[in-house]
This record gives sequence, C-alpha cells and structure tokens, in this order.
Amino acid sequence: MNSPFRTRPTPIRTMADGTVKQVNPFTGTEVWTVPGRGNRPLSHPAPHPRPLEETDHETFCAFCAGNLLSTPPEKSRLERAADGSWVQLDSLLPAQVTESVPEFRRVPNLFEIVSYDYWHQNFGFEMDPRTAERMLAYLEDPAGLDHVLAIVRTRMRASGEDPSTLGTAELLEHAPGYFAGGHDVIIARRHFTDDAVDDSQLASSGTLTPEEHAAFIRFTVDGIRDLYKRNRYAPYVVAFQNWLKPAGASFDHLHKQLVAIDERGNQSNLEIANLRQNPNMYNEWAVDYAGYQNLIIAENDHAVAFAGFGHRYPTLEIYSRSPVAEPWLQSIPEVTAMSDLIHACHAAAGADVACNEEWHHKPIDVDIPMPWRVLIKWRVSTLAGFEGGTKIYLNTLSPQNIRDRVVKRLYQLREAGMIAGGIRIATECSVERNSLKYNPLLNNN
Ligand SMILES: [Zn+2]
Repeated sequence: MNSPFRTRPTPIRTMADGTVKQVNPFTGTEVWTVPGRGNRPLSHPAPHPRPLEETDHETFCAFCAGNLLSTPPEKSRLERAADGSWVQLDSLLPAQVTESVPEFRRVPNLFEIVSYDYWHQNFGFEMDPRTAERMLAYLEDPAGLDHVLAIVRTRMRASGEDPSTLGTAELLEHAPGYFAGGHDVIIARRHFTDDAVDDSQLASSGTLTPEEHAAFIRFTVDGIRDLYKRNRYAPYVVAFQNWLKPAGASFDHLHKQLVAIDERGNQSNLEIANLRQNPNMYNEWAVDYAGYQNLIIAENDHAVAFAGFGHRYPTLEIYSRSPVAEPWLQSIPEVTAMSDLIHACHAAAGADVACNEEWHHKPIDVDIPMPWRVLIKWRVSTLAGFEGGTKIYLNTLSPQNIRDRVVKRLYQLREAGMIAGGIRIATECSVERNSLKYNPLLNNN
C-alpha cells in the first residue's frame, strides 16, 4: 500500500520565528501559518445593509417560506406542534404544503449533481414502490401536476432548452427525478432572524436555538437514512452545508444538502486503508493529539470539538464519541450532543463568516468502525499564487489562534445563555484518552 504515513510526520511543528507547519494526519495536506497575518477580523459585515420590507421575511428567495412551491415536490417536513413538540410529515400534496409553514423541509435539488438518469442509466435503478405511489398521487392531483410541469419547465429554461414545444407527456418524462432523485436540500424556515431590520441580519445555524438546531440535525440524519434505504446502489451519502456565497451557496438562506453517490472517493479510500493499519487512529491522530497540543475547544457527554490542523481553511472538528457509527442509529442524546457542539461552533464564528460544514460518516458498505464527525471550514481569505507550485497551503489562522477565538466567544455565549447546557469549555474538558468509543476494542474500559 502506498501510504504517506509509513513514516508519519509530526502533525504540528512550531518554528523559532512562529511559523506553524501542519500536516493533516488523514490526508497528508501540508499547511503553513506564517506569523503576523492572523489578527484580522474573520468577517466583513455588509457596508450598506438595505432595510427589509414586510414581504422580505416570506419571499426574499426561492427557499423562503412564502415560496414553498418554487422547489420540486417536498419529500418531508418538520413542523412545530401546538404543544411545542416536533412533528414530521412526509409526502404532502400542494394544498397541504401551503396550509402551514414548516420549520425544516427536505426537497429535491432543482439542479442535482447526480441525477435520477445517472442512476437509471448506469445501474438500472428504478424507484421503490412507495415512491412510485407518491409520484402517482402527486400527478393525479391537478395542483400537483401543474407544480411538476412548472418545475420541469423552469429547469429546462435554466439549462437553455425551450419547453414550449413539448407536450405534457414529454415534459413528464423528467418527473421521476423530482421524486426519486438522490440529491436533496434541507431548508430552514427563516431567511432573516425574526427581529431583523436589514438584509445583513441572516438566520444562520448559529442563530437557531440549540433545540431548533438539534431538530435540524436529526432531520438531516433521517434524510441520510432515507436516501440509503431508497437506493441500493449508493455506498455513500454526502452531507454538507455551504453558508454564504464565498462558501459556494447559491442563496443566503440556511440549507444543507444530501447527495447519494456511487463511490466513496479516493480520499475516503486512503483513509480507510490507514484505518485498517491503525483502527484507533481517530483517537490517536486526531482527538488525543489535539488534547496534547491544548487544542480541545469544548466537549459534552457524547461529543468533542477541537481546532483542526492541516486544513486549507481554518477548521473546527467535531467528533461523536458514540460507539455507534451510523448517525441514524445513534440515540437522541448522542445526536443532540453532536448538534449542540456544531451549533456552538457556528454561534461562536457568527453569521457573517462564510463556511462549509462537511459531514463524514462510515460508508454503508465499509466493515471497519469509524466515528461520525463534522468539519466546519471558515472560508476566510487565503493567499493565492504560492500554493500551485508547492502544494503547501497558507492558512492565515493557526490552530491555536482558532482555538483562542472560539473559546473566548464560547464563554460569552454560555454566559448569555445562547448555547446548549452541558458544554464544557477548554480547561473544563476531561483529560480522558481514547474518548471516542467507535472502536469496539476500547469499549470494555
Ligand atoms: Zn430565503
């Protein structure tokens, strides 16, 4: 095996002048942080915010709650019941969709990365009977038929095709992708915070309450489970969140994406090969190493967060300590613990900071245990030009700088009651080694 870790380099080395050289233990990515560039603020708030009009809370973009039929037919939604509990409703018809406002909804992506046709033509994929029934019921409903035809026309026009020459039957050939596709978007209700007065006050992951955020995470986890269940050819479901345009988001409206794919990707294959050599590598090379370097930011009973190293962008890493690899098989307290730390990390960065939230979990056909983990990468400016020739990336913030910024803010947020209870910060964290319990060999401790 051609592993770069036969002789493993030290993940973090601080030079005499203060330059911090990092190597990612899983990817081999080399990153330098040079001194004197890290004191700038992370975000650059909009210089000229525009006052909001009354309708902006409802119809600012296609994901807004006043435009529920601008997206393809909804697969599932999470509503708040009168008693405050959460209710999940699946497969609603258009009249039901607009009857109430969901807090979170899962809909097919209009511009899918991997299409229904891809699965159909390459694998002979056919939609499952339940989904076929759902599509039939939707198309038998006159408002449902109109909605699907409008979505197909919108999509064709967006790719430069003219739908006006096509009849209903031809347009409906595109319908299966909007019911049985493997690329979903999970959309939160708010575009702006409830008390926003101008368009700079966006509702982000960090502006949700911890309890709302936990519902968002559980609903996302359920979407992953559902995509695996409905496509036997998908060994992996990618989950991610792009926040703001510098991070690749098409709308500044909070949403996550799920994409079922037919490969694990090279990166993942390399990681799995390393894992076979050292089944305890996520404790040894990630969490415990971060502990030895004083990079642990926060923990609670079932998860831990630390300042990442060897990443192109400043990164926070949140690991589940659950012995269960699959997020959808974990207990509610375990999933909530992950949610609470993800939420706290977003709240600490603030809604102005563009970021990618990347989820990693054990591909469904992998036999060796891996922990669920989530990386939050701040898309703050980096220095161009240097990287191309060397493959050494310059990151303006060292792991220690990231830790200091986040820890300081977490204390303030906790004081203000803005993050979940049960979070221990920095020096309050336990010194337990091998605290990730994904590895069955460690579970007898
Ligand atoms: Zn919106």
